[in-house]
Amino acid sequence: MKGKVYLVGAGPGDYKLLTLKGLECIQVADVIVYDRLVNKNYLKEAKPTCEFIYVGKASNQHTLSQEEINRVIVEQAALGKIVTRLKGGDPYVFGRGGEEGEALREKGIEFEVVPGITSAIGGLCYAGIPITHRDYASSFHVVTGHLRADDKSNSDLNWNALAHVNGTLVFLMGVSNLKQISEQLIKEGKCKKTPVALISWATYFSQKVIVSTLEEVYEVAQKEEIKPPTLIVVGSVVNLRETLNFFENKPLFGKNIMVTRSRTQNSSLVEKISDLGGNPIEIPTIKIEKFQSNKELQEAIQQLNKYTYLVLTSQNAADIFFNQLDELGLDARALAHLKICAIGSSTAKAMKVRGIRADFIPKEFVSESLYETLAPHLTPQDNILIPRAKNARDFLVTQLKEICSVHEIHTYESVIDFNQKTELLEILTHEKVDYITFASSSSVKNFVRLIGNENLNQLKQSELISIGPVTSSALCEAGLTVYKEAKQATIDGLLDVMIAD
Ligand code: SAH
Repeated sequence: MKGKVYLVGAGPGDYKLLTLKGLECIQVADVIVYDRLVNKNYLKEAKPTCEFIYVGKASNQHTLSQEEINRVIVEQAALGKIVTRLKGGDPYVFGRGGEEGEALREKGIEFEVVPGITSAIGGLCYAGIPITHRDYASSFHVVTGHLRADDKSNSDLNWNALAHVNGTLVFLMGVSNLKQISEQLIKEGKCKKTPVALISWATYFSQKVIVSTLEEVYEVAQKEEIKPPTLIVVGSVVNLRETLNFFENKPLFGKNIMVTRSRTQNSSLVEKISDLGGNPIEIPTIKIEKFQSNKELQEAIQQLNKYTYLVLTSQNAADIFFNQLDELGLDARALAHLKICAIGSSTAKAMKVRGIRADFIPKEFVSESLYETLAPHLTPQDNILIPRAKNARDFLVTQLKEICSVHEIHTYESVIDFNQKTELLEILTHEKVDYITFASSSSVKNFVRLIGNENLNQLKQSELISIGPVTSSALCEAGLTVYKEAKQATIDGLLDVMIAD
């Protein structure tokens, strides 16, 4: 068995700025060796058995020396593993990827390099600064700002040339030497008024940009307490920021938004928050526990002819139902005589992959809406089968029973995932969470049980957004204040509230 190493550029930070090939390397890895500047969310894409080795480099305090990193990669690959070495930006732009490649070659270990979007270009882009422009810069120069301690005027760099090239200068790793950098450039004849941008945490929702001039930038940086990782951009392209700043103008830019999970629809909420520039913090409050060997469900499936309607209210309910059908040696044909309803598009999708097109999909993802859609079609002769969660609300079943027979079967239960408690409290204590969204009354109840009544005051700094009236009353009952309620009880309705706010 021969190991292999992929040196992968993980891009500047924004989750979606990773190449398809980079993602593939993460997915096949047995071991991932990663740095501080790599977006940690990529690790979720790895195989469940994948091992993670953090070799993070905060400037000054290298967790592992480069030699040690080389050794780790070589050792792991020599064990026959697929090693993905994830580096921020591009592996060959001040990433010491060249040295890692050399070490691997020396030991005869196979490797491939996957380029990434370097912060030196992509980071500027997200700050609204094009690295070249026909009218302002016909070249660009990416320079290390990591000047040698023994030689602050750094003879490795030709400051005179840098001062006169007239292209865009981008310094990486330069914050702690900002004073020397700006002084050297001025000394060698670069105009004091040249615009300079400092871009910290580029492409992240927490991106911060400061614009100044060569003359004043050091002072401004001191005042603003600028820290790494920061890009220093020198040149008149900086002025285009006003016009080209698309990222910071996104409606949810800079917002931390906690998404309390109760249903699968939330994955679309998380995605949309990111696309709108916000930072979604996903907290899975519950996990699903399926009831083992469900006799009642088996019997119902064996006598499907008794029923006229099948109502599936969640993706879980649909999956469990169809798996049971399959286990009993049946398939979609057994449902041919039934009218079928799905609450929610993900439920409908789960049915569709099994070859079933739902007859009814209510406009809104709530029981009330399903009831309104269904009621006009029902007669007292109808018999409805509803296999669903044990802790589901009574409303639907109670109301439907007024019209016809209803057979409700509990097929699963959602239980609080207490493993999440520590992380949740940590986030609430250490980060400013702007909004917390609740997409159902059960997500409110679960969330409150998860964090515990004694910790409810931790939510004071955040605005609570509710998807609709039922969810709002659940929040009130828990003694929490609803900041705003969605006009439409949908994921887009929730987003609209925050966008308008
Ligand atoms: N290989 C990386 C650079 C590694 S050197 C790349 O191609 O981007 C590390 C330096 O890169 C940091 O000190 C900082 O100057 C810069 N950097 C990397 N990511 C950054 C980000 N998201 N925001 C600002 N600067 C970043």
